[in-house]
Amino acid sequence: MFGTMMTQPLTISSLIVHAENYHGSTEVVSVETDGSVQHSTWAEVGSNARKLASALGQLGISPGARCGTIAWNNRRHLEIYYGVAGSGRVTHTINPRLTPEQLVYIIGHAADEILFIDRTFLPAAAKLKPMLKTVKFIVLMGPRDEEAAAMLDGLVFYDELLETADPAYDWPDLDENTPSSLCYTSGTTGNPKGVQYTHRSIVLHSLGGNQPDGLALAARDTVMPVVPMFHVNAWGVPYIAASVGCKLVLPGPNLDGESLARLIDTAQVTIALGVPTIWMGLLAGLEKTGLKAESMTRTVVGGSALPPSMIPEFRDKYGVDLIHAWGMTETSPLGTLNQLLQQHRDLSTDEQAKLREGQGRPPYGVELRIVDEAGHVLARDGVTQGELQIRGHWIVESYYGQDKSALTVDGWFDTGDVATLDANGYMIIRDRSKDIIKSGGEWISTVELENIAIAHPKIANAAAIAARHPKWDERPVVLAVAVPGTEPTEEEILASYTGKVASWQVPDRVIFVKDLPLGATGKVMKAKLRETYGDVLMENA
Ligand code: AMP
Repeated sequence: MFGTMMTQPLTISSLIVHAENYHGSTEVVSVETDGSVQHSTWAEVGSNARKLASALGQLGISPGARCGTIAWNNRRHLEIYYGVAGSGRVTHTINPRLTPEQLVYIIGHAADEILFIDRTFLPAAAKLKPMLKTVKFIVLMGPRDEEAAAMLDGLVFYDELLETADPAYDWPDLDENTPSSLCYTSGTTGNPKGVQYTHRSIVLHSLGGNQPDGLALAARDTVMPVVPMFHVNAWGVPYIAASVGCKLVLPGPNLDGESLARLIDTAQVTIALGVPTIWMGLLAGLEKTGLKAESMTRTVVGGSALPPSMIPEFRDKYGVDLIHAWGMTETSPLGTLNQLLQQHRDLSTDEQAKLREGQGRPPYGVELRIVDEAGHVLARDGVTQGELQIRGHWIVESYYGQDKSALTVDGWFDTGDVATLDANGYMIIRDRSKDIIKSGGEWISTVELENIAIAHPKIANAAAIAARHPKWDERPVVLAVAVPGTEPTEEEILASYTGKVASWQVPDRVIFVKDLPLGATGKVMKAKLRETYGDVLMENA
């Protein structure tokens, strides 16, 4: 037959093979659990991943088995990403900040056969072991350690596994629709749900998310995913970095601003990715240490809304461009990224910054729409708000272990976010549908109220919630954390809303708190705040 093209399956092993073949000497820097820094290369990571794949076979781990990890961002975790998925098994990354009950639930639900852990999580694993019925081996990600061996019966050591493995192991030919990795949603209500990615969805996400208007990683970059490898595959960076062969910096357990500021300098990081709370910490860390993050050109921020005041702070003090992105576990996660179009070229810096405060536009590979409560598609006018829905090559179809579709009848995934879309497809998240404040039938965006509070120089962080109200059903209340050493008053914070929102949207109260409760992925737990403060307006009613 003539006139055909080659067909090759889109597999995860093909990413690491490319990195080994064409970027073998490029560095992978890893901060270990004990704080030491290890230097490795894509060639070594590829070779170790193959050894691990062979070792899993020797241990009798079945084809397609889920292999759990409870680990920081480090080199061995990267090798597990490739060794497990590349050999046809499923990398199940587990969030260590879940409660013990949730950990037992998801390890059981995934039926993990083997569990890889960092030293930090050894005591927890030893305690949970009797309840982990499916787990045959627990592997400590490191060399032999007698003290650790005494803490957990039958503990296996990662480095020893690799020593006895076959270095000539060849990656198997896999169908691209083979499952490769599994992440559970953070599950603020009910049990966490599993999203199982495939080789094809991961590779297409890597290609689609890394276009020039996307993450735009290149071989000359040094990328540092601060977002954990247990949070939606560190937003795909471990895969994308291999596909372009850039230098990769894995920051390990110490994610405070000062440690990150130092690591950025020593490893000469050019681009980093993380949630806004991490970047608030970094700004404070830079201020404290006097470091300037000179190698950094850009930072990707997502996971929760980027406080707009952060854009000029990074830009003017450090010359770092903030790129706002949106996504979720169900979307692999990249759903939108915010870059400008040619038509915005002549706008002023402030106008451009304003446009870039939103969550951005979908890359090729995904589509967005907003709908009303009855499912009717709404206008893309930048004003009309609706439920955000998404479809595309790397979007969930059904949750792991559930035999029903997670989609609407016409094949879209309902994100649970409330958003506007404009004619160019720029999306702005107004709220989570369960967080939005419904005051007398009108909607008030908690995100907007938080941004105004955070822009006040005496406010370090803020969360707006719906508090019950006898007349209006719900009214906004802001919980605010003061900048250390300042004593803001309720009146002055309330005054800062004047002229920025309609008068009926101004919060009824600002309550100062020491800190905000953060969930397992660093997001403010609004449900918890509503439990504590949801009735403050009823008390004097
Ligand atoms: P998760 O699956 O834990 O990553 O959570 C996904 C949810 O985080 C989304 O549905 C949004 O509500 C929220 N989220 C993610 N990125 C952003 C962003 N850039 N702005 C606002 N909310 C975001």
